[in-house]
Amino acid sequence: MVQVNGNYLKLKAGYLFPEIARRVRAFSEAHPDAPIIRLGIGDVTEPLPEACRSAMKAAIDEMGTPEGFHGYGPEQGYLWLREAVAQHDFVGRGCQISAEEIFISDGSKCDSANILDILGEGNRIAVTDPVYPVYVDSNVMAGRTGDADQAGRYGGLTYLPISAANGFAAQLPSEPVDLIYLCFPNNPTGAVATRAQLQAWVDYARAHGALILFDAAYEAFIQDPSLPHSIYEIDGARECAIEFRSFSKNAGFTGTRCALTVVPRGLMGTAANGEPVELWALWNRRQCTKFNGVSYIVQRGAEAVYSAEGLAQVKALVRFYMDNAAIIRRELTAAGLAVYGGEQAPYVWLKTPEGLDSWGFFDHLLGQAHVVGTPGSGFGAAGEGYFRLSAFNSRANVEEAMRRIRSL
Ligand SMILES: *Cc1c(COP(=O)(O)O)cnc(C)c1O
Repeated sequence: MVQVNGNYLKLKAGYLFPEIARRVRAFSEAHPDAPIIRLGIGDVTEPLPEACRSAMKAAIDEMGTPEGFHGYGPEQGYLWLREAVAQHDFVGRGCQISAEEIFISDGSKCDSANILDILGEGNRIAVTDPVYPVYVDSNVMAGRTGDADQAGRYGGLTYLPISAANGFAAQLPSEPVDLIYLCFPNNPTGAVATRAQLQAWVDYARAHGALILFDAAYEAFIQDPSLPHSIYEIDGARECAIEFRSFSKNAGFTGTRCALTVVPRGLMGTAANGEPVELWALWNRRQCTKFNGVSYIVQRGAEAVYSAEGLAQVKALVRFYMDNAAIIRRELTAAGLAVYGGEQAPYVWLKTPEGLDSWGFFDHLLGQAHVVGTPGSGFGAAGEGYFRLSAFNSRANVEEAMRRIRSL
């Protein structure tokens, strides 16, 4: 008999989004006329920017000519895209990141999981609680954890609780860790990190020889010009951090698929014999072996994000979602709820009303307002008593959902 990867059997059943889908299905079968509004899953809703579509159409036509045909591209991505990224996202913000250090991929969800391929089994891993579930589950699948306890916490992981009590800013670990997942602006809480807060993480990582895995998928939603968009805006980060970025949320590429990972040259890990090893070389090897690049057409679409029209269109998209977030914040506050996030991120994180836990509030909102959100407890034990609403929706749906919640 073929053996399965037993690590998968440690994963907690009833993953968050399937359970939400199950409850919504059951509700709409019982109430087929109830007009449900989904402010749950973190997927964008607005159409692709015109600049990206034009670039992709032109690329398709190029592919139809002998001179313009492209077969396999570089595993790391085309240089013209990596140069545009380096210039606009990093050098333009004062970060010393070159095109060579950028690896184009088909998603930062997969990159943030695949990165474990090049990291050793003995690393002690820190995640916030609540957290983007991919960081935890990919470690479970890779055999880097023990079993889950009653509360759903896996043995071997260091959980750093974030809540209103600490302003959704995790304390530095009190036990030594080697790998630290940070996501700012944060999914699910919508919190951001100041320069000083990130500096404290970088200082910790350098002092302890730890690696920060920094997820900047929502950096485009930052409104406050004093907040850092990249970990590389912080002194010393090149020596201790890998950054994940994506075109999914800023440019609406969730279905088009393009992202990137930054691995600075000279960022070192350690081999079992104590020898320093460059992580860039390992990630390059990993990508060349297991990945064949993103479609030429899609990379042309991503490149157009950095054209004058593309920049303006992405800015307008972000503005649209952030105006939704402002409406959600304003209306929930008026409804007497304690709300967090939503100012530098497309997620509003709210405290559930007295007497209702996360799933209790989910059922209440679905049953009474026909609005679907995401229970905070689905992102970790410390998310219990919180609830996430997403600003990714049409203005009409957001306004209608808020009207219904106000009248509860
Ligand atoms: C949406 C999201 C991403 C982007 O994932 P892609 O695979 O690039 O679509 C990355 N990190 C977080 C926390 C996200 O919410």
